[in-house]
This record gives sequence, structure tokens and C-alpha cells, in this order.
Amino acid sequence: MNHKNSEKLYQKGLKHLVGAVNSPVRAFASVGGNPLFIKKAKGSKIVDVDANKYIDYVLSYGPMILGHRHKKVEKAIKKALKNGYTFGASTKNEIKLAKIVCDAFTGIDKVRFVNSGTEAVLSALRLARAYTGKDKIIKFSGCYHGHSDALLVAAGSGLATLSLPGSKGVPEGAVKNTLIANYNDIDSVKAHFDKHDDIAGVIIEPIAGNMGVVLPQENFLKELKDYLHSKNALLIIDEVMTGFRSKFGGAQEVLGVEADITCLGKVIGGGFPVGAYGARNEIMEMVAPLGGMYQAGTLSGNPIAMAAGIATLTELKKQNPYQKFEEVALWLENTLLEKANKHNIDIVVNRFGSMINPFFTKGKVTNFEEAQQSDTEKFAVFFWEMINSGIFLPPSQFEAWFLSSSLSEKDLEKTEKAIDKAMKAVAKN
Ligand code: PMP
Repeated sequence: MNHKNSEKLYQKGLKHLVGAVNSPVRAFASVGGNPLFIKKAKGSKIVDVDANKYIDYVLSYGPMILGHRHKKVEKAIKKALKNGYTFGASTKNEIKLAKIVCDAFTGIDKVRFVNSGTEAVLSALRLARAYTGKDKIIKFSGCYHGHSDALLVAAGSGLATLSLPGSKGVPEGAVKNTLIANYNDIDSVKAHFDKHDDIAGVIIEPIAGNMGVVLPQENFLKELKDYLHSKNALLIIDEVMTGFRSKFGGAQEVLGVEADITCLGKVIGGGFPVGAYGARNEIMEMVAPLGGMYQAGTLSGNPIAMAAGIATLTELKKQNPYQKFEEVALWLENTLLEKANKHNIDIVVNRFGSMINPFFTKGKVTNFEEAQQSDTEKFAVFFWEMINSGIFLPPSQFEAWFLSSSLSEKDLEKTEKAIDKAMKAVAKN
């Protein structure tokens, strides 16, 4: 497969863009080689500037759950464009999208739209602090909650890929109220409460997707919530990745646990920059203009993004692809295991709904430490073989692969052949 034009653009891009990318996860830092430049996408396929076509399991890191350029979403966007792009005043569609979100999440009476997952989370933390009057927040090692100062510690996603413990430029003061616990380890949470009496809450990815996919053990979130409430602290569930993806009501619907504050992003914007945070009235009424917790945004509730979000969620509800996702993910798990086994390679496959990925390691992966045991060199070989067979995967061992409802039988057949070939190449290396 030829990547000549991508390579040319990469070299050109280096001059005025940092690493020629606008988000480090797009750099092929841990797999070697340079990033691909994309020209267009439609349905389950994405096409690069060298006209190579790939089956897309990245889906812009989650938002494109219906596949690219779904007819109804595109129609809604075109219609919205005709009315103008942004007004700095309220519109009817903000109310419509808010109702869809509140109806889907039992713990959300009111929602505030922002422009990214990062913003949703940093606002949710401010709200938790405002509501409880306490300062400290616990996060789990390997979970990623966006790039706000307080949360760039022991984070997954690009930091895990680049093996960074945190970020330069974050002052000590900004992280002094962030405490780190181990995923699936309630005792590590309790240990913090034993030492501190000013913990506002815990933020968690209900299904971790930023250290690769890591599932919560049975009842972990329920137990966590009960414990937090006994300490007058809040459970903040970051569903930026899982919201409307694990189920229409997010991971909370599947796990049977309701957050005190929920963060959303990705799917709710249908491919446009949208995030949101929501909670029961009692908590949301702390937010300005009703209350004294300030949070604002020039482009928040952007009309084009609202139209894309409404169309995406409406179509998603109609399609109800969650059972199909389960079946495809199970098939993909079995295929990965079977081909790995055939070529004598150790892998662990974790999956939840339409999120899945193989770890090149033995045993099990239930937390960040175990995820980090993976052989990233093997992953790199696997990754490039898959690219060369026309399968677009996230360029990191520590990112989830996503399924879209536009995947066809033919796509899956092609994926199976590619996996076989890629495992064979890993075995040879
Ligand atoms: N939270 C989670 C769970 C995420 O996966 C991400 C992004 N991958 C974010 C927050 C940050 O979202 P954004 O990149 O839109 O700022």
C-alpha cells in the first residue's frame, strides 16, 4: 500500500502544525511511521489522500456510531446551515437535544452543553466541588478525562501511548487536589477517604476505553456509589466515550447504576464538537445563571452541532443497534482469539458493547498496570499489517476500537482475513 501523498502532507504539515497533528493521539508515535492523512469517509469506510480505502474502526474515536455521512444526519446539517451558524442566543434545537439526553439518562434532569469532552469533565468537577463544598477529586489510574490541568495525572489515551506520567506545564497547585486510585480496587479509594475529609467525589470511566478497554468488575460502580454517598461525596461518571454507545442510556443503563453527575461528548454531537454535563435538578441548579457556579461558552449549543446530534440520536434510537453490536463484538473477539491461537500468540480481548480491543499479553487485563504489560512492539506489527490490509485501527495499544452500525458482512469477512494475516506477521517478528 502506497502512502506517498500522506507522507508529503506530513512533511509539509510539520512546518506550521505541531507534529503535523492537532491531537497527539493522531500521531503514529508508538507504532512507528507517520500519520495518514484522510480525504473523505462514507458509511463504514474511510479513504486517505492516496486513495487507499479502509474499514474504519476508529470512527473519530467514537462519535461516528452510525458510520460516516449518514443520510439523515447530513440532511439535518444542510437544513441547519441555511438558518445560520451561530447566534449567541438560545435555539429550539438545544431544548430538543436536551430532552433526548434527559430522557435517556435517569439521573439527568437538566443538562448544559459545552464544546468538548474535556470541557464537560472540567465543568463537572467544578460542579461537584460547588455542590459539596469540598476540593479533592479521586480519579483512576489509566482513565482519561480530557486535558484539563487537574486531570492530566496517571492518565490513559495519548499519555499512555507516549508513556507520559503527566504533562509539563501543569503547576503543582493544579493537581494537588487530584488523588489517584486503582481501577477495580475499592480499597484504594477508601484509603484516600481515610486520610482526607475534603473529597468532593470520584470520577470514573464506567467502561474504561483509554487504557484499551477495561471492564469494571461486577458491582464495582454500585459499591463505589454506596461508599461515596456514605461519605457525602459524589459519583461522577464520565460517559464521553460510552454515552449512547454502550446502550442508549449509556454504560449506566447496562450497569444499573446512576451517576450523581454525568459527562457526555462524542456521539451526542454526531461528529461536531459537543460535550455536555448533567445531573438532577438539585445539583444542576448550582450552575449559573440559576446558581453561583460559573461556566460559559461562545459556541456552546451550536446550531449545526445540535442538529447533527439530534439527527444522530434519533436515528440511533430507531436503529437500536446494541444487540447487533454485541453480536459483532463477540464475533470479533472470537476471531481475534482464534487467529492469535492459530499463530501461537498470546492475547487478551476485552470488550463491552461496541468497544473492543486485543492486548498483546497473557492472563487478564483489569487495570492500567495489567494493560501496560502488553507488548506494544507486537501491537505495532499488527497495526501496520491491518492498515496494509485496509483496516483502520487506532495507532495505539491503549485505545479502544469502535464499531459502527454501518459495518457489513463483507467488511467483517475482510476484517477476518486481515486479522489472520496480521497475526501471522506478528508470529514471524
Ligand atoms: N473523557 C473520556 C472518557 C474520553 O474518552 C475523552 C476523549 N477521548 C474525553 C473525556 C475528552 O474528550 P475531548 O477529546 O472531546 O475533549
